[in-house]
Amino acid sequence: MDSVIIIGGGLGGLECGYILAKNGFKVTVLEHDMQIGGCLQTFKRGTALFDTGFHYVGGLSEGQSLHTLFRYFDLLDLPWQQLDTDCFDEVIIGNRSFPFANGYDHFVERLSEYFPHERESLKTYVAFLKKVGDHLFDSFLPRDTTEFYSESLFAHSACQFLNETIHDPLLRKVLSGTSLKMELNADTLPLYIFAQINNSFIQSAWRLRGGGSQITDKLADSIRSLGGEVRVKTTVTKMVENSGKITQVEVNGSEMLTADWVISSVHPAHTLALVDESKFLRRIYRNRITGLKNTFGMFTANIRLKPEMMPYFNRNLFVHTSDADLWHIDTQRVESVLVSCSVPENEVKCTSNIDLLTPMYWDEVARWYGTPVGHRGEDYVAFKADKTEQCIRLVEKQLPNLREAIDRIFTSTPLSYQHYTLTTEGSAYGIRKDYNNPMGTVLTPRTPISNLLLTGQNLNLHGILGVSMTSFFTCAEILGMETIVKQLNLKK
Ligand SMILES: Cc1cc2nc3c(=O)[nH]c(=O)nc-3n(C[C@H](O)[C@H](O)[C@H](O)COP(=O)(O)OP(=O)(O)OC[C@H]3O[C@@H](n4cnc5c(N)ncnc54)[C@H](O)[C@@H]3O)c2cc1C
Repeated sequence: MDSVIIIGGGLGGLECGYILAKNGFKVTVLEHDMQIGGCLQTFKRGTALFDTGFHYVGGLSEGQSLHTLFRYFDLLDLPWQQLDTDCFDEVIIGNRSFPFANGYDHFVERLSEYFPHERESLKTYVAFLKKVGDHLFDSFLPRDTTEFYSESLFAHSACQFLNETIHDPLLRKVLSGTSLKMELNADTLPLYIFAQINNSFIQSAWRLRGGGSQITDKLADSIRSLGGEVRVKTTVTKMVENSGKITQVEVNGSEMLTADWVISSVHPAHTLALVDESKFLRRIYRNRITGLKNTFGMFTANIRLKPEMMPYFNRNLFVHTSDADLWHIDTQRVESVLVSCSVPENEVKCTSNIDLLTPMYWDEVARWYGTPVGHRGEDYVAFKADKTEQCIRLVEKQLPNLREAIDRIFTSTPLSYQHYTLTTEGSAYGIRKDYNNPMGTVLTPRTPISNLLLTGQNLNLHGILGVSMTSFFTCAEILGMETIVKQLNLKK
């Protein structure tokens, strides 16, 4: 029986574990933290259950982008809750509010009510997004079998596409307004990422009652039932290379493990740092990978609410100041906040908690790096309190009773992500892909070491959809793409 060691028990690592266990491999997943899940971890405070990262997914209805992948992973029967199809995301800019609706025509109709002069441009916009989404799985097929290879859009600018397609600057801002789920950066963001992610949410949008960790818990259970092992509190501390192959994996500084293959779902720079001197990993390659820039991190205020105070709202709010420049993010001042609430249990009409998220760069917290969690100092506490206050001030017009409904607030910064998941610079979405340099920033699963593969959000597209796609790309290096295409039931 072939064997594989997988470094990291987040979504990417567990999905690879699932695919390979299903294909008869002996799978061992090694997770550094006390719980699996990575960005999909949840934590409980009293009766409130908080998500640390994940808030919603797109494209989960039959025939849509994520459905095919989650059917394979047996994740469709989790308690998914579809968001309001008439307004799954509400974009608020200053005092004005705009709805995002599901379905291409519906999306155009709803926004045309506010921008009648842009109806035709909106049709062009969604038609393009749909085309990109329709060709999602072409990445699994030989390039010459398709006339529109959507991954080539990694070399196009998302910002330029928007400027060329939409004339009204306010509408451009609105269409950019739900994009805290990617790092909007006029100088780098590839069109592929913008189009693929936005398309999947226009298809349909879903929350998970009971938190995102159910996704990774179910994957881990499936791996175990297929004979695999998922270990927590198990940090990979070193890899030993011999004749171009990883021959040993050291965990927790002592135990040595072996396998035919090693897949790393952790940051590629972190992965390379685990490999001792190796002539296969030349300095130039190491420097290239280590020098790649990372996307922003996230500041999150997880707010536990007093009972029966805040009616549940079945949509997300993306609140921006009227002068926020969404394509040149300035995180010194809070200009944009995502507001998401948890789906209540049973017949309860009110939500028990609300999360406020705003981008935060590593620079803002780097001075506290190395200080112990919970004891980072009074200035760190004050810094977080100020950010929280700015977030609340920005959103309270939309949620007038928020202040009086607050029971307790728990906050996290990129430092928290760095601590719990060892994520480089606490980055939310991994390596920053750059349309000026797609070859250098969009990595493939292969490394110069023949049995060491990469997976996870750092490679291709981030998010649940992207990481799930990438798991198949990675496993195709072992199983062959023909097998993946057959198992996913994709049509050539
Ligand atoms: C704040 C935030 C909000 C998000 N919201 C959404 C959303 O609403 N919808 C969506 O689709 N996506 C969202 N995402 C993105 C999505 O959650 C991620 O793209 C995805 O979960 C990343 O999975 P991964 O496996 O690549 O990485 P990770 O989840 O980071 O997993 C890597 C794992 O490796 C472990 N590890 C690290 N080093 C070692 C080591 N040496 N040994 C052993 N284990 C190690 C870590 O502890 C971690 O568990 C969000 C992300 C963030 C941060």
